Amino acid sequence: MKPPKTGEMLHLRGNALDKGEPVALPLTQSSMFHLPGAPEGQDFYGRVNNPTWEHLEQVLAHLEGAPCLSFPSGMAAISAALFATVKSGSRILIPSDGYYVTRVLAERFLTNLGVSVTERPTTAFTAGGFDGFDVIFVESPSNPGLDMMDLPAIAAAVRAAGGITIADNTTMTPLGQRPLDRGIDIVVASDTKAMGGHSDLLMGHVASHCAQIMERIAEWRRVSGAIPGPHEAWLLHRGLETLDVRFDRMCSSAQVLAEQLAGHQMVKHIRYPGLPDDPSHTLARAQTTRFGFLLSITLESEAKAEAFINTCPLLRPATSFGGVHSSAERRARWGDDVDPGFIRLSVGCEPVEELWHSIEASLNRL
Ligand SMILES: *Cc1c(COP(=O)(O)O)cnc(C)c1O
Repeated sequence: MKPPKTGEMLHLRGNALDKGEPVALPLTQSSMFHLPGAPEGQDFYGRVNNPTWEHLEQVLAHLEGAPCLSFPSGMAAISAALFATVKSGSRILIPSDGYYVTRVLAERFLTNLGVSVTERPTTAFTAGGFDGFDVIFVESPSNPGLDMMDLPAIAAAVRAAGGITIADNTTMTPLGQRPLDRGIDIVVASDTKAMGGHSDLLMGHVASHCAQIMERIAEWRRVSGAIPGPHEAWLLHRGLETLDVRFDRMCSSAQVLAEQLAGHQMVKHIRYPGLPDDPSHTLARAQTTRFGFLLSITLESEAKAEAFINTCPLLRPATSFGGVHSSAERRARWGDDVDPGFIRLSVGCEPVEELWHSIEASLNRL
């Protein structure tokens, strides 16, 4: 995999500027565009065009190595990819242990339209069995379990069986893994997480090399009206300018913390793909450039887990992840099929020694 050139990304706009234009991306907050006479391909209406999101999409396309369309949230991106690829009678396969709102969307809305939805655990995908499915939705590593699947093998098997693959790449970002380079047809992601990185916006995107699919997704966005706000697009663009340094710090710190946590007596179980004995380690080495910034620990009980999350001064007790502030939550509170003491920890940009001391002190107080 050729990693995206983030230096080139930072100068994408600069190298196309005319003398006197602002170096920072302007925020175009307008629904109307000056349009006398016959329309001749200019921007004409805010649901269809906006220069701020168009520039953001160039940056996203650079990161993904493929055309991109941005959406107002990860779920809007996932909805676009699914509504653009399924029709009545389609059969789709989704992970039973992935991001739960994707399952809710499939079960509560797609089934009503005559789509049949089958679920399977992430670790069972690598074994194949895709005949008769039109769309295979995958998430690797899965959120929150951090199980992985063999993306190239799955992409090839699904293609041979005549289906389309969609991968949710939220947890890794394109700097950690590019599923399109592994043969996956469509990538979807929540840019609310590490891509934005500052916990101050919701956004998402869809990427694909297939022009027909992207045209259908663009049409879905135009007619459903699921468009990003210009200000959110501007904020996300600003966040992407530091993605490289943030992601690097977060992944490096996660490795250090995982190794320390693995030896702590309060930790019953730990998952981090960067630990050599983690069940995802071999696949992670083969498919990802970094082991990510998410890890999970299981403490003895719900009470201990809550006490830890709510008292550690350098951990925000919050849902969501990928921000500059480290955060943690007990996923069983949302009904994820995990131990009551299971905590998903998102490692942020704090200096790692400070972070470890804070975490260690809080664990020791339990
Ligand atoms: C958060 C998340 C989503 C949904 O994204 P929103 O921006 O909250 O709509 C989808 N998939 C994964 C893996 C996520 O973590």
